[in-house]
Amino acid sequence: MDERQKCGMLYLCATPIGNLSDISERVIETLKGADLIAAEDTRNSMKLLNRFDIRVPLTSYHEYNKYDKAAELIEKMKAGMNVALVTDAGTPGISDPGEVITDMCHKEGIAVTSLPGPCAAVTALSVSGMSTGRFVFEGFLPSGKKERQQILSDLSDETRTIIIYEAPHHLKKTLETLLDALGDRDMAVCRELTKKHEEVRRMRLSEASAYYGANEPRGEYVLVIEGRSPEEIKEEIAKTFLSTDIREHVAAYEEKGFDRKEAMKKVAADRGITKREVYSKMLEETDPKEDKESR
Ligand code: SAM
Repeated sequence: MDERQKCGMLYLCATPIGNLSDISERVIETLKGADLIAAEDTRNSMKLLNRFDIRVPLTSYHEYNKYDKAAELIEKMKAGMNVALVTDAGTPGISDPGEVITDMCHKEGIAVTSLPGPCAAVTALSVSGMSTGRFVFEGFLPSGKKERQQILSDLSDETRTIIIYEAPHHLKKTLETLLDALGDRDMAVCRELTKKHEEVRRMRLSEASAYYGANEPRGEYVLVIEGRSPEEIKEEIAKTFLSTDIREHVAAYEEKGFDRKEAMKKVAADRGITKREVYSKMLEETDPKEDKESR
């Protein structure tokens, strides 16, 4: 038998985000058959395990021990144990410490499999009625001011539907910040999904901000926000820059994250000229800064 065959593996088990009946038969069978269950919150998972009569040793795996504990669990898997991971709710690895042990297992040659099931982001997106063709999942916005600002600035021109997780005590502030950064948009506030008090409110970002400014948020929330229309971005740039310096027009696209080549292509399209013309006009036009300096 080679080393790999003796090895145990990691089973990522998706668990309900509210309604316990959403657990799959395969997850129950896998949990029953595991040698060890690693849980983000052992007390919380105990309720689930008791309900399905799962009697397997539990150990904790959470944000504050995720590296050391992953290394420990990997040693156990190398010794032949099969470990099942459950996080607080939903799919392990999605905005929870599951991604760390999964990455480490791959790097250590331990097989990993994911048993699909509930995930708050996908549940919210599907019930939101917002465009599902292209979407971007942001998880929780970072708490650090600079990092948060950068992400909000990136999101201001995001054309895909945006999904954000938020805790109730931060919801009011987050909605205000989002309104400031993204402008008013359609959105869905999805609360307590799959639970008794499930609620999906379709409203404008400004209405959500006003509503939760006056009503204390309670429970768990996912925000699903409409992306910006590409035509609107194009019109805005065209309006602002068509009559101005071609360098500024190119720079405007560069500031929005396009590289020089793509920016020139977009400017050419906006102005109905070729890329070559954009390039030669850029060379011809005097940089306003240089102009000032030479006076
Ligand atoms: N791994 C989980 C998943 O697959 O969705 C997410 C874990 S993350 C730590 C917890 C966040 O998910 C909550 O703060 C909330 O934003 C969202 N969430 C989880 N359950 C929810 C529910 N029933 N209704 C609305 N949002 C929920």
